[in-house]
Amino acid sequence: MDFRGGAVKFLGTKRHHDKWLRATENYDMKGCFAMSELGHGSNVRGIETITTYDPTTGEFVINTPCESAQKYWIGGAANHSTHTIVFSQLNINGSNQGVHAFIAQIRDFDGNICPNIRIAECGHKIGLNGVDNGRIWFDNLRIPRENLLNSVADVSPSGEYLSAIKNTDQRFAAFLAPLTSGRVTIAVSSVYISKISLAIAIRYALTRRAFSIAPNGPEVLLLDYPSHQQRLLPLLAKIYAMSFASIELKMMYVNRTPESNKAIHIVSSAYKATFTWNNMRTLQECREACGGQGIKTENRIGQFKGEYDVHSTFEGDNNVLMQQ
Ligand SMILES: Cc1cc2nc3c(=O)[nH]c(=O)nc-3n(C[C@H](O)[C@H](O)[C@H](O)COP(=O)(O)OP(=O)(O)OC[C@H]3O[C@@H](n4cnc5c(N)ncnc54)[C@H](O)[C@@H]3O)c2cc1C
Repeated sequence: MDFRGGAVKFLGTKRHHDKWLRATENYDMKGCFAMSELGHGSNVRGIETITTYDPTTGEFVINTPCESAQKYWIGGAANHSTHTIVFSQLNINGSNQGVHAFIAQIRDFDGNICPNIRIAECGHKIGLNGVDNGRIWFDNLRIPRENLLNSVADVSPSGEYLSAIKNTDQRFAAFLAPLTSGRVTIAVSSVYISKISLAIAIRYALTRRAFSIAPNGPEVLLLDYPSHQQRLLPLLAKIYAMSFASIELKMMYVNRTPESNKAIHIVSSAYKATFTWNNMRTLQECREACGGQGIKTENRIGQFKGEYDVHSTFEGDNNVLMQQ
């Protein structure tokens, strides 16, 4: 498992790339991305995990100050991850500098949870049970100063806060930049899933017959019923359009520049919300269009509903994204 969203790449600098990127690619180090908390999901700016700096040892000290600050839903944390990117408020000399990201080890390479860390699992979900979502508490966890992902801001050995971005809103936006790649991936994968479910439902409608018009006549193909056409074909047309749009989004992302980042943020937010909502509507219609066969897990559509429902919530809740 990678640190999600290429966060080390985007938020870190050469020292982090040299130390961590190869290890995550080889799966020597299994990473997770600890942004959400029990008390704050969409409102990332309100997270309560707090990190201070100790200049006498050159270490950051991370704490979970209350139950609502426990990290929650962290994919890979419950059983597997050895490291996490932890998002936390950074308090330097009593002054809160806002949300920052740090690399912290949470397990040794034999899978034992590290001292000063507590982990629990989130429990069984309606889908995505292949991912071990977990909860994390930090109790005076000490990490080296170098583990601050410092492309946006840094702290000197003596404890001075340094950032080229003086505007706190812009600084916060820079820390959320890794989420864009997740939105692009989710938007595109929603289109793939809609295509698969439409292919299954339309093929079924081209072979399944129900009721005959004339006595003893052949039964009618489902797709020859106008009502069945009206249920599936507009969804098919829509997914053609969304497929072209998703290719455009991928190209925008691949060719991104500092100047185009804002446009990509807006387009990826809108497409992620629109495509994932459309995917759930498509899956339900396709499931029903297959009748009882749609319920069987081997026919996949019902399973997709459980697996992909969460796409409207994580990497930015759809209703919140539509306000961007
Ligand atoms: C399976 C799963 C895996 C996840 N993996 C990770 C992970 O690996 N790492 C991680 O950090 N997080 C992860 N998350 C957390 C996920 O990012 C959050 O659940 C998501 O950001 C929403 O936050 P929330 O659950 O607190 O909902 P809330 O923010 O409480 O939202 C609840 C409802 O309120 C609405 N709402 C909230 N604010 C507004 C507003 N301003 N205006 C209008 N409506 C609003 C929302 O639209 C939503 O319908 C995961 C979640 C799930 C379910």
